[in-house]
Amino acid sequence: MNYCDLAPSYVRSIAPYQPGKPISELERELGITGIVKLASNENPLGASAASVAAMHEAIKTIALYPDGNGFELKDALVKRYGVTHASVTLGNGSNDLLELSARAFLAPGDKVVYSAHAFAVYALATQAVGASGISVPAAQGYGHDLPAMLAAAKDNKAKMVFIANPNNPTGTFLSADALRKFMRGLPAEILVVLDEAYNEYLPEDKRYDSVSWLKEYPNLIISRTFSKAYGLAGLRVGYALAHEQVTDMLNRVRQPFNVNSVAQAAAVAAFRDVSFVKKTFELNQRGMVQITEGLTRLGLEYIPSFGNFVAFRIGGATAMYRRLLELGVIVRPIANYDMPDWLRVSIGLESENAKFLAALEKAMGQQVHGEKK
Ligand SMILES: *Cc1c(COP(=O)(O)O)cnc(C)c1O
Repeated sequence: MNYCDLAPSYVRSIAPYQPGKPISELERELGITGIVKLASNENPLGASAASVAAMHEAIKTIALYPDGNGFELKDALVKRYGVTHASVTLGNGSNDLLELSARAFLAPGDKVVYSAHAFAVYALATQAVGASGISVPAAQGYGHDLPAMLAAAKDNKAKMVFIANPNNPTGTFLSADALRKFMRGLPAEILVVLDEAYNEYLPEDKRYDSVSWLKEYPNLIISRTFSKAYGLAGLRVGYALAHEQVTDMLNRVRQPFNVNSVAQAAAVAAFRDVSFVKKTFELNQRGMVQITEGLTRLGLEYIPSFGNFVAFRIGGATAMYRRLLELGVIVRPIANYDMPDWLRVSIGLESENAKFLAALEKAMGQQVHGEKK
């Protein structure tokens, strides 16, 4: 017998998530070192020294179960955001929160709206619980088409809408006004998961206070992560802010110890290290200019990005991705996002960005050369 057949059809039809290629894997394959990974939007500065110190300290009590309630981390969040403890949910990465939202509120047959080219986990989390996803075509420029998403949610009596702001892999941004207009138009029984994984990368003039909207919109779930600007992707910590009743449901489907003790300690320290986040932001701003200027110089189109990565259009994207690998640079193909002619590159250190641009130029030269043959 085929054991896959034992799984429900909606599980069998899930297309597995395609992660960025790990450095160690490419090292094994090619036998080269000095590889630059710009494939998973990680923080090129690593983790802050304060969070590393907190991890060392936390290891001393690793034999004990973590605080299943995550009091200290929640307390740090509560104090900064002015919300109650009962409106915070901690997750094993914010990925966990996207899944908890789906698991807590969706049943087989429920409809879920998200945008084309939106973060892949929305479709995965939806399918895993047997709900059906409605992918709304993007607006011009690959961004979310909020009016069309609003209509789709209402017309289909959707239970949930996923919105990424900024979105990954496109880097597109929705203004506070556009988001508020969307929330105002949406029936209160439709939940909105607003995924703000890249919130900390927004320039000053684009920042908005979504947390204050929670009072007005009890159907809003805001998710954020320590994986990107805080440099803790390997630890897996994220959080959701939502109405207390919504939070209650998220916590009922949560594993009791979903965030480990080292991760909790590191996240508290990272959250308090405001200067590290600022440094990360500034490095990213400079790197974004460096990379987009480089892409322009090479005659490549890119989508203006508000995250720590940028998608660019390039002929023969799959072949180009492989050539870049051979040159020791890992980027991310995004054909699985319905963007087969595009690659996504994360913003790295200045030297890493330079290595990427040099490799790209070389790979493009090889392509032209190859076509002549
Ligand atoms: C990276 C990312 C996340 C979450 O990552 P975690 O490591 O699970 O916190 C969530 N949403 C988007 C859009 C992302 O790009």
